[in-house]
Amino acid sequence: MHVYTHPACLAHDTGPMHAERPQRLSTVTQALQQQLPALDWREAPRATTAALLRAHVPALLRQVLETAPRERIMLDPDTVLSPDSAEAALRAAGAAIAAVDAVLGGETTRAFCAVRPPGHHATGDTAMGFCLFNNVAVAALHALEVHGLERVAIADFDVHHGNGTQAIFERDPRVLFASSHQMPLYPDTGHAGERGVGNIVNAPLPPGSGGDAFRAAWSSTLLPAIEAFAPQLLLVSAGFDAHRRDPLAQLELEADDYAWLTTQLAAIAARHADGRIVSLLEGGYDLEALRDCSVAHVGALLSGDDIAIPPA
Ligand SMILES: [Zn+2]
Repeated sequence: MHVYTHPACLAHDTGPMHAERPQRLSTVTQALQQQLPALDWREAPRATTAALLRAHVPALLRQVLETAPRERIMLDPDTVLSPDSAEAALRAAGAAIAAVDAVLGGETTRAFCAVRPPGHHATGDTAMGFCLFNNVAVAALHALEVHGLERVAIADFDVHHGNGTQAIFERDPRVLFASSHQMPLYPDTGHAGERGVGNIVNAPLPPGSGGDAFRAAWSSTLLPAIEAFAPQLLLVSAGFDAHRRDPLAQLELEADDYAWLTTQLAAIAARHADGRIVSLLEGGYDLEALRDCSVAHVGALLSGDDIAIPPA
């Protein structure tokens, strides 16, 4: 199983008080390296302009890549562009593309992208919610338009609704977007009635829901929708901010809940997509929770896949 990252993702400088900080990523990479030694680490390439333009308008590419600020500037009250952000954004999206190429090219069955900035709030034309480019959307469109797939599913378990991903695909029946998220919470989208062209499935959960309600929402609504869609590739927006320790939300999950959901998603991928899953880091703002949840998630992806089976 491949893991894609790049040192440039640590240089996206959001400032001393920002929740989306470089230590998030270094915590995840250190935990995975120490606890899952079977992982095959790869350096993320830069996304090409052509790949980014499948998801975004030229004006957003110019804003992120050509502003070249000499110090941090705010694109909105949450979203920072620093001198090194353009390179980080290119590597984060490039990781997602390389992971799709590796999985669809048969090099590996599953891949995880340990990257920042995150992506799922970025719409076609607007960077927002800590996100510059929508990495998972770029990955999905690459799979559809370069590799010729017909059906790609995106499972988003970040505690915030992936409004950007939904906006990019809500009129595109080639993509199923299935999301659980806390409501009310930023960005205040993701109501159950938002259905796109029948390809959007939202399961909003109230604060304090906990793991039982989370698992019930996936079991009753989101997983059956993905199963029925029969995706040829499963992408995951893996945010770990629904953990009980997270300071930005109150969904009260445990690391085990992420392991459980990952195993369910892997089973669907095995039935429909030759096991192919590409997962991307989104949110998660408590370092201890990030450590435990990323190991739970990636460990569940790794187990039963290309992990070495010990001799009898
Ligand atoms: Zn989030």
